[in-house]
Amino acid sequence: MSDTSHIYVDGRFITPHGTELFALHNPASGEVIGHVRLGDEVDARNAIAAAKKAFPTWARTAKDTRIALLKRMHDAMAARRDELLAAIILEYGAPAARAEWMATYAATSFLDAARALEQYPLEQQIGNARVIMQPLGVVGLITPWNSNAGFICSKLAYALAAGCTAVLKPSEMSASQTVVVLKALHEAEAPAGVFNIVNGRGDVVGAEITSNPDVAKISFTGSTAVGKSILKEAAATLKRVTLELGGKSPSIILDDVDFAEAIPLALQVGLNNSGQACINGTRILVPESRLDEALSLIKPAVEKMKAGDPKDPATVIGPMVSQTQYERVQRYIKKGIEEGATLVVGGEGHPEGASGFTVKPTVFANVTNDMVIAREEIFGPVLCVLTYKDEAEAIRIANDTPYGLHAYVFSGSQQHGINVGEQLEAGRISVNGAPHHPDVPFGGFKQSGIGREYGIFGLQAFLEPKALMGAAAS
Ligand code: NAD
Repeated sequence: MSDTSHIYVDGRFITPHGTELFALHNPASGEVIGHVRLGDEVDARNAIAAAKKAFPTWARTAKDTRIALLKRMHDAMAARRDELLAAIILEYGAPAARAEWMATYAATSFLDAARALEQYPLEQQIGNARVIMQPLGVVGLITPWNSNAGFICSKLAYALAAGCTAVLKPSEMSASQTVVVLKALHEAEAPAGVFNIVNGRGDVVGAEITSNPDVAKISFTGSTAVGKSILKEAAATLKRVTLELGGKSPSIILDDVDFAEAIPLALQVGLNNSGQACINGTRILVPESRLDEALSLIKPAVEKMKAGDPKDPATVIGPMVSQTQYERVQRYIKKGIEEGATLVVGGEGHPEGASGFTVKPTVFANVTNDMVIAREEIFGPVLCVLTYKDEAEAIRIANDTPYGLHAYVFSGSQQHGINVGEQLEAGRISVNGAPHHPDVPFGGFKQSGIGREYGIFGLQAFLEPKALMGAAAS
């Protein structure tokens, strides 16, 4: 059992004012592995006050000072990589390969932000004005459980790079991972109050951060439903917002591609992070005339995927994070069957030999784009295969969604894939498996969000231009 009883405010580990104990689980077995003592509104207010006190000094620091802190944070996170890796596997259940990426990314995001700051001109001359990119103030960073350390580190890195101070509220379900991050970041010796972390419930700590007039901006990653409520709440004090929300991303398999190459890649982007990634390509679009060929590759590949114990190196699909998430995925699988989609592989219940919150990797065919399973984000390893008659229809179906976070195109010709990609409505489009790049903007069209993270776009999101007219650039 590992219990987490502290939050981090004003450079110190303190016992929260809040007293609620929240159980933490090993999702592979369902067993309770510890408890976290949650903070409350008082803790959130204290953290905001500490960040407010630290802001005027941090906002005036030179680039060098900020970059030096970001590098120390990177080094401290890298030094605790193995500890973080163990916590990710135990508490979140990410399969080993995914967990390794997550543990490394948490550290490198500080270097990514340092690089963006190095390159970005914080001042420029326009007309008769010195235009100064000024940090926004105290920012509230609210993050989900599906890449806990990565989201904390990435949001914090860009906020600090911009000269903002921060109050973070990570997911209450990820407290063991947060503790490792906290210990590392404390060792980096940031000035007191520059960052503060309060474990707590969304409707308590998160709500205080969202409504508090001393918070200038909210950067939120999570569900579209909560994102909308944050946007409404933030309007009262006209906070700036960055919202990174849900998705229902299409993977278009064009007729000119070798299916034997494209289908494994489509399955990979569809099921990455056990299906608990906002960017999963969960709607696979194939030419109508080649559905059987596609399914003849998809079915055996998914049947072979081992689901369950994340410590087993053969495991591809880890458990869902919680019982609630397990039940949510079960409901969608049931719904798909009721809607008349064809169950190709998987289905309801646990995979053989697995327990805890593990679900069967599941693929439906003969899905139409108006079915609930094609429209709503499931957030589990459940894929829909849809067919199209021609390319125009493929593009229409791909864009016929309230979301617009990501899209994937697979083509035998890179240029053909790019031509189709240009017609898709999504913040990021990957052609033929082009991988993530940390400097490239990330964010959603439509109900997948507002604003962008990463690189100079991510840095700008924590800055506001101030035009000092009558002054020359320094
Ligand atoms: P969630 O929206 O339930 O919670 C996210 C965070 O918001 C948690 O810390 C939660 O405690 C907090 N929260 C909940 N209610 C709140 C409120 N009223 N006020 C303030 N904060 C509140 O999401 P989740 O279940 O933790 O994560 C899964 C969702 O996140 C999925 O929809 C997924 O698509 C999305 N996601 C998006 C991205 C992206 O970059 N676009 C990345 C990862 C996850």
